[in-house]
Amino acid sequence: MKKKTKEQLLQTLSKLYPKPASELNFKNNFQLLVSVVLSAQCTDKKVNDVTPHLFNQYPNFKALASAKLTDIEKIIRPINYYKTKSKNLINLSKMVEAEFSGKIPKQFEEILKLPGVGRKTANVVLGELGVIHTLPVDTHVFRVSKRLGLASGKNTDQVEEELKAQFDSSLWRNLHHWLILHGRRVCKAQNPVCSDCDIREICPSREE
Ligand code: SF4
Repeated sequence: MKKKTKEQLLQTLSKLYPKPASELNFKNNFQLLVSVVLSAQCTDKKVNDVTPHLFNQYPNFKALASAKLTDIEKIIRPINYYKTKSKNLINLSKMVEAEFSGKIPKQFEEILKLPGVGRKTANVVLGELGVIHTLPVDTHVFRVSKRLGLASGKNTDQVEEELKAQFDSSLWRNLHHWLILHGRRVCKAQNPVCSDCDIREICPSREE
């Protein structure tokens, strides 16, 4: 994509989605990490449905660290992979308490040690916390950036590198959210709504 077209794209996306932000509901760092771990392979809506009850019963890492596995499973049952995620939530809380004084580690290599925290989760959490500039590539970012001709990589790591190489790091967080929001609302996996897409003029994949 040409430089001028990219500028046009950013301008349009910023008008379409003036408040680019996560659609997960969280009020503090603990809730952010738990919500992001739960959101892997699951919709934000489902996560937002279970977290009020979860956070009410277990308001911090300390409480979650001593939770009974079956109690957590019961609460997060509607979430995909709830059994594994329940185990991970308890174990990561134990590790945060024991090794990081009850606080989310801010070093990339350290946060990756937490059970259930992979590269994408680490990127999302540290990006939201404003620790580092990140551009996590989820299924929406992957699909939309490829349709727009911004990337051609075969996997999320490759697409992440392609996007990072084209945009200033100060734009990464917003771009991440813009592409997710556009992917959810317009450029859907099945049947993208090209006829009602505000970036159709600059999209090489638009359907007539
Ligand atoms: S024109 Fe179609 S394929 Fe291109 S971004 Fe819009 S919805 Fe997606």
